[in-house]
Amino acid sequence: MNYQIVLENTLKNLNGKKTLLLHACCAPCSSYVIEYLSNYFDITILFYNPNIDTLEEYNKRLQELLKFVKCFKTKNPVKVVSLGYNNQDYLDIIEGLEQEKEGGSRCFKCYRLRLEKSFIYAKKHNFDFITTTLTISPFKNSKIINEIGAELENIYHVNYLYSDFKKKEGYKRSIVLSHEYNLYRQDYCGCKFSKREN
Ligand code: SF4
Repeated sequence: MNYQIVLENTLKNLNGKKTLLLHACCAPCSSYVIEYLSNYFDITILFYNPNIDTLEEYNKRLQELLKFVKCFKTKNPVKVVSLGYNNQDYLDIIEGLEQEKEGGSRCFKCYRLRLEKSFIYAKKHNFDFITTTLTISPFKNSKIINEIGAELENIYHVNYLYSDFKKKEGYKRSIVLSHEYNLYRQDYCGCKFSKREN
């Protein structure tokens, strides 16, 4: 399945302006996704990332995202909501998988935790669509992320926007934007286990 083509077809068939809840992991990954999708949607970015290992790092990533959104000119409005930091949410769901390699089953639980919380928020606040920046990373499994999105769409009845943002040079564009806006690009995914692997 080419999720970029699925996304393009959805965008082509949008009927009027819609609202999108965009789960975002950090500013660099969000930069290209905001540039792309703000042409189509009013975007609310949800910063929910309990996987991040410390409060200091959490705040650093959030501040970078706020800085980027403030500076970056978009066709439609973009705002940011943070759900606050609670690393225990993450530690509880990955219990027993601490030794898994990055990209394995620990990560799948981590994607699901962040996506499900985003779906619950989107449902509560009546968003038309929901998606996540996570598929821009070449280190993350887009197929699994989209399968989780499809499963949650059936549970919460909010339209999931399929994506593979790394396609069409999306990942490269995020690096260019990160340099242009002088964004902090962390050298590990987020959890303390990913730090260990670097
Ligand atoms: S490596 Fe990244 S995706 Fe995997 S569990 Fe850690 S923070 Fe989550």
